[in-house]
Amino acid sequence: MDQHSPAYHTNPEEIDILSVALEQSANVVVITDIQGNIQYVNKAFTLTTGYLPEEVMGKNPRILKSGYQPGAFYEQLWNTISSGDQWHGEFQNINKAGEIYWENATITPVKNRDGKIIRYIAIKENITSRKAAEDALKQSEEKYRSLIANIPGIIYRCAYDNDWTMHYISNAIEDLTGYKPEEFINNSIRSFASIIHPDDRERVKDTIAIGIESFQQYSVEYRITTNKNSIRWVSETGRPVFNHEGEVIWLDGVIFDITDRVHVLEELKKAKYAAEEANKAKSEFLANISHEIRTPLNSVLGFTDLLEETMTHETEKQYLEAIKTSGKNLLTLINDLLDLSKIEAGKLSLQYEFLDLKKLLQEIKQIFSLKLSQKGLHYYEQIDSAFPAYIYSDESRLRQILINLVGNAVKFTHEGHINVKVEYERGARSNTINLKISIIDTGIGIPRDAYNLIFESFRQHSRLDSRKYEGTGLGLPITKRLIEALNGSIFLESILNKGSNFMVVFPNVLVQEDVLSSALYSEPNEPGKSREKILLQDFTGRFLTDYRDFMPMFNFIEFFSFYRNPVLQRNEIIAVFVVTGLDHSIINQKLHYFKEHELLKNLPLVLLTESLSTHIEEEAREIADLIISMPSSIQSIMKRIKQLLGKYENAVEPPEIILQKTKTQKPAEIHAIISEFESALHAQWETFSKKQPLKEIRNFANRIRDLGETFHIDFLFDYGNAVIVSINEFNIEALRERLARFPGIVNQLKNMANDAE
Ligand code: ADP
Repeated sequence: MDQHSPAYHTNPEEIDILSVALEQSANVVVITDIQGNIQYVNKAFTLTTGYLPEEVMGKNPRILKSGYQPGAFYEQLWNTISSGDQWHGEFQNINKAGEIYWENATITPVKNRDGKIIRYIAIKENITSRKAAEDALKQSEEKYRSLIANIPGIIYRCAYDNDWTMHYISNAIEDLTGYKPEEFINNSIRSFASIIHPDDRERVKDTIAIGIESFQQYSVEYRITTNKNSIRWVSETGRPVFNHEGEVIWLDGVIFDITDRVHVLEELKKAKYAAEEANKAKSEFLANISHEIRTPLNSVLGFTDLLEETMTHETEKQYLEAIKTSGKNLLTLINDLLDLSKIEAGKLSLQYEFLDLKKLLQEIKQIFSLKLSQKGLHYYEQIDSAFPAYIYSDESRLRQILINLVGNAVKFTHEGHINVKVEYERGARSNTINLKISIIDTGIGIPRDAYNLIFESFRQHSRLDSRKYEGTGLGLPITKRLIEALNGSIFLESILNKGSNFMVVFPNVLVQEDVLSSALYSEPNEPGKSREKILLQDFTGRFLTDYRDFMPMFNFIEFFSFYRNPVLQRNEIIAVFVVTGLDHSIINQKLHYFKEHELLKNLPLVLLTESLSTHIEEEAREIADLIISMPSSIQSIMKRIKQLLGKYENAVEPPEIILQKTKTQKPAEIHAIISEFESALHAQWETFSKKQPLKEIRNFANRIRDLGETFHIDFLFDYGNAVIVSINEFNIEALRERLARFPGIVNQLKNMANDAE
């Protein structure tokens, strides 16, 4: 209907229909005259306002005014309709009962044929409930807005694109960057990507891409540049939101400023590094100084031994005894310090090999047997007979660990027993076990609050009278560090006055049922049989620290002087060991010295050396009965020493026969060996260049070692042995390098054949 030229209906039927429609309409209809006085209202009006038609006839609709709209609102309304235009808008009104309601109204001026306004028709819809819903929404939005504004972080919703185009970003972004949130919305002034530090952009992108690919939350830390060109560190966590098609519609997340945390961490890192460096320097110093102290101390102890023989006066003897005891204590302390500082300076080298735990336990028992019987303590081991024959570990370190723990158990137990219990289960990897060794005693126990303390250096828990029990408080710290170096852990359970249980756990220890030959391992001494004495001159100090403990069947007597040396006098020495480093000048002189000494000249002389130049080696071979180059595995040293000593025992004219045998090979023998090297062994060796099947290589190396042993060709024995050691240590690099030396070995054999002819 065109309001400017309303159609006038004369058809009374049509008028009837329209007036019914008007009357029944759900919308409120109000017709006023030109002054605004009400001429007609429909039923819906009464329903909404509570006024009957007769109550409002002739009145102005302002009776419904709530006072909410200002005067200007009505002025504008009147201006619009009185100038002939339709008006749309919303009112807040008040009904007869005094209740507020909202209406959406359209007011149309009705004109006569001359275009003069004769009345107004208002059609209004009650929108109170819609308004209430809108208000509620607004309020809740308000609430969220203030919530977000108060969150100590930046909330965002952005597109998954290269600019990180922001749909929304909370005000906190301004505090962080100095840029207003609206500057980022739709990249209006800048993109969020542009403030991410260029070095971090790729990483941020990749991290988020991974989050999206895995339909998961992502977290990333990166730097941003502020409007003042300063750098801030932030931590962002967000998640992708997907539509039904599985496409990313946006990313929602939160960004926190972590600059302070990063700075603190950096400071901490620096401080930690400085502390570690200082500690390392200290440990190195300690290691050096301990070594330096040990050498003169050894001679003090040695000369005390000598003096003991010459002293007759009882008091002087007592003084001497006191010097000796203190000296020994000092030596133990220095050895402990040396160990600890070596560990702390990161200089602890581990020598993994297959070892027999059952034998090691027997050895430990042996070491403590005297103390145990003196104290009347019962000692027993529990180890399954099916326990694997060999475990892969560092035998000397494991021995040190057990000696410390069992030693403590013996020291701190006055009655009852000590039990060493071995338990194991399958490990996570094939051929491995999880190994648990418990050392259980019925001793004085340790109070709970001292559990941690006793693993710290130089600490003994105060409730114990430490004087009564001597000791440095270094045993457990060393033990703990050694266990950790071997990938294990130590646990303690103890009840005061009842006893303690130190549990050592090594996960995933490699095991093997058969290894070269258990005969390689030395038999511990039978009880009662005194250990055989070997005279030792160690120019390196290494033998004493690294090897001596491995050979408990021998008693190494350190050599200081020939002068009235009691052990020499008593003729108890069975062999002489000279251990040298790289300084060759004194070697042969020393060897002669021993070899020509009246009391020693018939004994086997063994030279353990780190390296020798060829001409010195030749000369040394003339004098020494056996030359072993270090580092060598304990097994091979033991085996060769045993062989040598065995020969001396059985020989009629000991030294000469051995020397004869080791020095001259028959040319025919050498040729037979060479031909085996050139045919079968060479063929095998060739296949190893492509792949290295350990079992075959082991057989190959065993054969070479056996040849070396049978025909007394040391370099063959050493070569075969070195290959086997690299297999045992899983040192594939060394293995390859050793295999590559094979042609050189064949040449050496050939040279030897030439010399023999
Ligand atoms: P040390 O024995 O040289 O003092 P350790 O580090 O070996 O040093 O031991 C530290 C302390 O822990 C000991 O002094 C002792 O108080 C306590 N301790 C260690 N083992 C036991 C044990 N089996 N029973 C009771 N106390 C123990």
